[in-house]
Amino acid sequence: MKIARIETFLVPPRWLFCRIETDEGVVGWGEPVVEGRAEVVRAAVDVLSEYLVGQDPLRVQDHWQVLTKGGFYRGGPVLSSAVSGLDQALWDIAGKTYGAPVHALLGGPVRDRVRVYAWVGGDEPAQLADQIAAQVEAGFTAVKMNAAGVTSPIATAAETAAVVARVAAAREILGPDRDVAVDFHGRFTAASARRVLTELAPLHPLFVEEPVVPEQSHLLPGLVAASPVPLATGERLYGRGDFLPVLTAGVAVVQPDLSHAGGISEVHRIASLAETYGAQLAPHCPLGPIALAASLQIAFATPNFLIQEQSRGIHYNKDADLLSYLADPEPFRFVAGHARRGDQPGLGITIDEAAVRAADRTGHTWRNPVWRHADGSFAEW
Ligand SMILES: [Mg+2]
Repeated sequence: MKIARIETFLVPPRWLFCRIETDEGVVGWGEPVVEGRAEVVRAAVDVLSEYLVGQDPLRVQDHWQVLTKGGFYRGGPVLSSAVSGLDQALWDIAGKTYGAPVHALLGGPVRDRVRVYAWVGGDEPAQLADQIAAQVEAGFTAVKMNAAGVTSPIATAAETAAVVARVAAAREILGPDRDVAVDFHGRFTAASARRVLTELAPLHPLFVEEPVVPEQSHLLPGLVAASPVPLATGERLYGRGDFLPVLTAGVAVVQPDLSHAGGISEVHRIASLAETYGAQLAPHCPLGPIALAASLQIAFATPNFLIQEQSRGIHYNKDADLLSYLADPEPFRFVAGHARRGDQPGLGITIDEAAVRAADRTGHTWRNPVWRHADGSFAEW
């Protein structure tokens, strides 16, 4: 069997899909995207496809080696995300060829259902109570929220109090048996993060995510030592080499993105690396259905898995949502806040190809906002 054709589809709200077709008619789907840079990743996929077309699709690990290292320069969001989507599609083809779900090819399931969380609030969280109550009503046992919008370099007393008040309001609705995770989104300096983490501790967040931007990961050992709250990071890290220092720093939770960190092949290895540090895996996934399907395959095969992000109803999903490109929504019909294990081959989803092709004709130009502080200077989004 040989790879005959590779296509990409730029689809709303902000995603890029790839489709690999073999000369025997087997089709695999992947989601190679960096949010806000989808067209750039599309060009990278085109370049990498020059090598893949004509190759045996079942040599997944060998292709991963060539795609990540064969161009001499390596790593970074664009190349790693291009490889990630292609890797997902190759695993999808492998599963369909062998008649097995990807988690079976990874050694078989280690759990029967996967806990997922729902997003509440948007970029600038304000009135969250109704949204949290609705997610509880829908059966979710955990939610995640942004801690704050634009935040001063050293948060004021009022800004700090507002963060604590929002998490306190969430805890009141959730009660002691459900969880709230809080995303700092790299909007905090280490000094601010240290103070806010201490004040949040009595509210028992599941974890605090990206307490500082990734380029300040060298500050994580101090934050871990100072924080009673488990710390998480990883959505902007791109392979084992990037995860090693944050694991050494002592983070409790790693959040590789299946569409950024090297696909199923590399996230499976990151999970094993994390296990040696006693860290838990919570894959980042505010993306589309293929990235989520890949994430769930990893979740079913990973002992040290904690919880899965998913984008249904997320504030980014304006013109299309998680189910828009699926022929059958059943794999993402969550029951009691959990995804159930299926036995469909490959990634376990069926893409509505006609819907994807139609959406690509519209495309999208999604960009994240650029934020400013009150004095006009750049602020982290
Ligand atoms: Mg995040």
